[in-house]
Amino acid sequence: MKWMKDVKTYTPPDFHVIRDPDRCIKCKACVEQCSFDATFYDEEEDKIWNWDAKCVGCNRCAAFCPTEAITIENRTSPYRINESWGKWNVVGVKKRAAFGGAPVVSMGADKPYIVYWDHMLINASQVTNPSIDPLREPMELKTFLGKKVDHLEIENGKLKTALSPQLEIELPIMFAAMSYGALNYNVIEAIGRAALELGTYFNSGEGGLHKDHYKFKGNIIVQVASGRFGVHKEYLDVASAIEIKIGQGAKPGIGGHLPGEKVTASIAQTRMIPKGTDALSPAPHHDIYSIEDLRELIFALKEATEYKKPIFVKIACVHNIAAIASGVAQAGADVIVLDGFKGGTGASPQVIRDNVGLPIELGLASVDDRLRQEGLRGKISLIASGGIRNSMDVVKAIALGADAVYIGTATLIAIGCTMCQQCHTGRCAWGIATQDPFLSKRQNPNIAAQRLVNLVNVWGLEIKETLGAMGINSIESLKGNRLALRGFDLNEKEMEILGILHAGE
Ligand code: SF4
Ligand code: SF4
Repeated sequence: MKWMKDVKTYTPPDFHVIRDPDRCIKCKACVEQCSFDATFYDEEEDKIWNWDAKCVGCNRCAAFCPTEAITIENRTSPYRINESWGKWNVVGVKKRAAFGGAPVVSMGADKPYIVYWDHMLINASQVTNPSIDPLREPMELKTFLGKKVDHLEIENGKLKTALSPQLEIELPIMFAAMSYGALNYNVIEAIGRAALELGTYFNSGEGGLHKDHYKFKGNIIVQVASGRFGVHKEYLDVASAIEIKIGQGAKPGIGGHLPGEKVTASIAQTRMIPKGTDALSPAPHHDIYSIEDLRELIFALKEATEYKKPIFVKIACVHNIAAIASGVAQAGADVIVLDGFKGGTGASPQVIRDNVGLPIELGLASVDDRLRQEGLRGKISLIASGGIRNSMDVVKAIALGADAVYIGTATLIAIGCTMCQQCHTGRCAWGIATQDPFLSKRQNPNIAAQRLVNLVNVWGLEIKETLGAMGINSIESLKGNRLALRGFDLNEKEMEILGILHAGE
């Protein structure tokens, strides 16, 4: 038997792999599918073993077992219950003591913080303001993103006012920034195809853009982050909008890290760095230490693209987010992206992911308020991201003041991700957050693109149905309409920040 218990951490496994011997036909599909070596075949004993300590709960084996012989169970803590410490604090101490390093994790914060979306209810029309049947009457979800003007001047029947560049999206949902490096070629290809078919945009993230994906011109937003990976003239030219990434919701205040083993020849070429080297983006942009510096970068990018593309600025939701967003608006950004702390990441120190930042719901409401008070809201677009899980989160985000949302984690879940939080290991069993050629083939761009198109189209239908129930026929009429929301199980202060009334009021 080639398997021994690893006693170094003194911690019990998180999962228990249960194989029903009456159902198992020893086809070894599970062995083939498990990329974490948590299940293996012993030829001498003709037996399939489970190594619970290595199991990450990705459920790939269970999904592909043809006889449904496998069940993955969460193990409860074997320790005496201690409400003050809980399992995670005890395990956290032991792991740090064993390895002498700070744990790195992926995906979004998983602590049981309140999810404000789930404490808001949506209004519906009755009697005086009749509801609308979206199947029989037109319902507009089209959204324009970019700087707006106060008023339009028309001379001799012609528009005299110069309009700023706008992005036009068929529905207020775009694919969030996820880099080539964090994701593999096939996944980016799938997201690009889905964006093209849906009439929306995908975001390159901070890793540059593979030349093959230039074909999605017209549906691309490119990112300029602190590491400036893959940023060059062609990259800017192929984009419809450029996003300056200042911060990320899952890890505000720190930079990015793509481990060297994920930097393949193709990724190295795209990022313009040597193959196999760690791609480290610094915490700050080394040329931005003030709003004036940010303004310079915004206008440098506008200048480089002949003022034809909206410039987005992405900031993480932190305590003084409203004041920061106001500064960003005044610095000349066309669109502000607010990223909440439930947003995903390919890799983040655990302590940062789980403790730093704000939920998007509070950040969005306070920014929308501040921009209104300062007369700036009508001049800029707001995108909410970091924790948008379903179509009703989209509706609530727009009622709180967003023009549109970005979806990242939902995008990955749609194509197979089970949120096992192992993206940083590069061993993703679902073939998503990995550069391993064998694992990457698990994502077929045709199938994945279709799943994404299905997801977003269904969300679009659900949004239309909800707007119809509310008696409004365009997404524009929902924007910032907080009277459409009511809160429950929230305190006065939370409702004040969200700017909503209590249910029953
Ligand atoms: S495939 Fe995933 S769930 Fe199954 S044993 Fe391996 S790590 Fe555990
Ligand atoms: S992308 Fe893959 S590794 Fe990352 S959480 Fe999802 S299934 Fe796990």
